[in-house]
Amino acid sequence: MTIPVGVVGAAGRMGATACAAVEADPELELVAAIGHGTGATEEADGAGRAALVEVAGRRLTGDLEELRRADAAVVVDFTTAAAARQNLPRLAAWGLHAVVGTTGLSPDDVAALRGAFRSSNCLLAANFAIGAVLLQRFAELAAPHFASVEIIELHHDQKVDAPSGTALATAERLAGASASWTPDPTRHETVAGARGGVGPGGIHLHSVRLQGLVAHQEVLLGTTAQLLTLRHDSFDRTSFMPGVVLACKRVADHPGVTVGLDAYLGL
Ligand code: NAP
Repeated sequence: MTIPVGVVGAAGRMGATACAAVEADPELELVAAIGHGTGATEEADGAGRAALVEVAGRRLTGDLEELRRADAAVVVDFTTAAAARQNLPRLAAWGLHAVVGTTGLSPDDVAALRGAFRSSNCLLAANFAIGAVLLQRFAELAAPHFASVEIIELHHDQKVDAPSGTALATAERLAGASASWTPDPTRHETVAGARGGVGPGGIHLHSVRLQGLVAHQEVLLGTTAQLLTLRHDSFDRTSFMPGVVLACKRVADHPGVTVGLDAYLGL
């Protein structure tokens, strides 16, 4: 018995990759691919969308109702915050489970979704890379045992925002796990910004942008004569897919709205 899955944003980079991952898993079945194709990237226009037709054998449709017609039980959403704000309440009203990777939803959006998802469940995961989720948990566990911490996040040379949302979330988790970090000793910055940006809990964040990189994060924790380095590397967007596939299989067991993949991993 397979789980029927629909993907919204199927013409996008993540959506097309999710379609292929669902298709490749013997416990899941891709029953609908939703998207207009108008917002598709050059890459998705070519390899991504061709793969959709060829591998998934599903024609892209802009009609969300197709999810109901195709009897989807779980819907994966990789779109935009504006689109997700419109689509997710409809999925909730139809009693479909949602696995959402779309970023940019506000706390107000999350509160509204908690009200909407009554008869089905919703996972909101800003990062589906299982290693990145574990890194944040490991950092939290280590925090009380170390005196100082700094975060370095490294991304490709097209990323327009800094620091990354994941690095900011890591800083928030570290700040929540320990409030006794050694104060920054710096009195003079010869080059402005040399000490990076100061995030939650006064934790310093450093953003590196380089051609050839994808998405990488390092947490450096120091104490007496010791350094603990936690590092995670995403080399390709397929790194997010084991998390997406796992979520499709487990979303039915987690009532209401869940934020973050942690609970699905038993963390
Ligand atoms: P992208 O290539 O621009 O794809 C977004 C897709 O959403 C577009 O193809 C667009 O195409 C579709 N879309 C927009 N409005 C829609 C609507 N109303 N109904 C259906 N489809 C709609 O972007 P991406 O790189 O795939 O990223 C998508 C999202 O995933 C972003 O929010 C990104 O931050 C997030 N992301 C999350 C993770 C994670 O691990 N959680 C990892 C990477 C990225 P159409 O013209 O076909 O509608």
